[in-house]
Amino acid sequence: MEKFQQSMYQLIVETSTKLPKDVRRAIARAKARENAGTRAAMALTTIAGNIKMADENVSPICQDTGLPTFKIKVPVGVNQIKMKEAIHAAIAQATKDGKLRPNSVDSLTGENSGDNLGVGVPVIKFEQWEKDYIDVRLILKGGGCENKNIQYSLPCELEGLGRAGRDLDGIRKCILHAVYQAQGQGCSAGFIGVGIGGDRSSGYELAKEQLFRSVDDVNPNEQLRQLEEYIMENANKLGIGTMGFGGETTLLGCKIGVMHRIPASFFVSVAYNCWAFRRLGVKIDPETGEIQEWFYQEGEDVDFARELEKAEQPAAAQLGDKREIVLEAPLTEEQVRNLKVGDVVRINGMIYTGRDAIHKYLMDHDAPVDLNGQIIYHCGPVMLKDESGNWQVKAAGPTTSIREEPYQGEIMKKFGVRAVIGKGGMGAKTLAALKEHGGVYLNAIGGAAQYYADCIKSVEGVDLLEFGIPEAMWHLKVENFTAVVTMDSHGNSLHEDVEKSSLEKLAQFKEPVFK
Ligand code: SF4
Repeated sequence: MEKFQQSMYQLIVETSTKLPKDVRRAIARAKARENAGTRAAMALTTIAGNIKMADENVSPICQDTGLPTFKIKVPVGVNQIKMKEAIHAAIAQATKDGKLRPNSVDSLTGENSGDNLGVGVPVIKFEQWEKDYIDVRLILKGGGCENKNIQYSLPCELEGLGRAGRDLDGIRKCILHAVYQAQGQGCSAGFIGVGIGGDRSSGYELAKEQLFRSVDDVNPNEQLRQLEEYIMENANKLGIGTMGFGGETTLLGCKIGVMHRIPASFFVSVAYNCWAFRRLGVKIDPETGEIQEWFYQEGEDVDFARELEKAEQPAAAQLGDKREIVLEAPLTEEQVRNLKVGDVVRINGMIYTGRDAIHKYLMDHDAPVDLNGQIIYHCGPVMLKDESGNWQVKAAGPTTSIREEPYQGEIMKKFGVRAVIGKGGMGAKTLAALKEHGGVYLNAIGGAAQYYADCIKSVEGVDLLEFGIPEAMWHLKVENFTAVVTMDSHGNSLHEDVEKSSLEKLAQFKEPVFK
């Protein structure tokens, strides 16, 4: 079991830090499709740079570890209890080594277990089979994309698409709608797994199961093969693009599975996965516990270091005629009112992290630091203490901002906060507050945890660490922290615009295609 534990540690580290070859090829294809000078091209160049840095530093591709989920097939006679113990030990070790963020939280008290273990965490599903080896698959699927999963109960009425009936065409509409409703919030461009049939839980299970298929495989079911092809061709016409910035590629992969259902229910379940599609698998010798083979690693590899060398200019410089503005925090109202949607900003100075627990806290407490003119960063970083007891940032990309919608506007006004950095955009309440108060929303590139960690030059302090590492308020000094203005103080929101135009485009798919 000692060797098996080492093999599991290797699998966890590799999954967290290095994207598999099939995913890398899909991202490289998307990058090639975007025109230079667009926001989507800039976002994809940042993503490519981030993948390269994660490769080189053996550090998490994204700071959000997600819910580690193992699917294991074992020959008869293998001790599953011992395997489970070994996996738990490997998870705790990888967390201690900064390869995973402590991400397991007590649902009632909010307390973080600190080692990624907890009731039901990690998820480990065993199945027995007739073969003579162990097959272990692991997926790390973060919260941003997990929250965009969706389940439809047919028949139903769908925004932009009308009636979705209990047939293949109704399923087609549900899948297109699933891509539309995710917008950029699940860190598009994404991959989707679809489960047709089952009940509410087995339908989702089947949808997630599809994410373990290779991006390049071909569905053996002819009807589903055609549907997968249709979705890949047409979902990209919605124009949502990378990070919801608009663009040619919204979807990187679509895999559909089917199972029986009971006559009264007809579910279509969709599991959405971000571009940081961290799933790998290994074949293990049950006698020795050693890895015999890695899955998803066949075919050509994409060397993102070489890809980036080919690009002549750094990401933000590829923005054609869009304005690039350097901001030194703290910010004045005048500086902020000068910013417009589409501007690219490079931030120097202090930023302060704050996500769910901090926002809730600030509603009825004083801030631990003077936030007047300051920038809040929606981020739950991976932090480790070095030998001298100083905090080191291991990964620090943005988290999904919309969760803070109930609080954000009030907090900005109460403390004089001038800018918020996050991803996926915010809603009407925040947009109104930005206009009234003189504030701006800056969209960072979701999942670019290494890229942003590199922009952080020092950790100047931390407050409210009792909320756990991801939820604490970290005081970070940054240089050249690049983001795009997607909501400004003049009432403009790129997110609103893209949502509206993608809804109009969705309507072109209203007529039946599959009889
Ligand atoms: S890339 Fe985005 S959605 Fe995916 S895990 Fe990271 S933050 Fe979450």
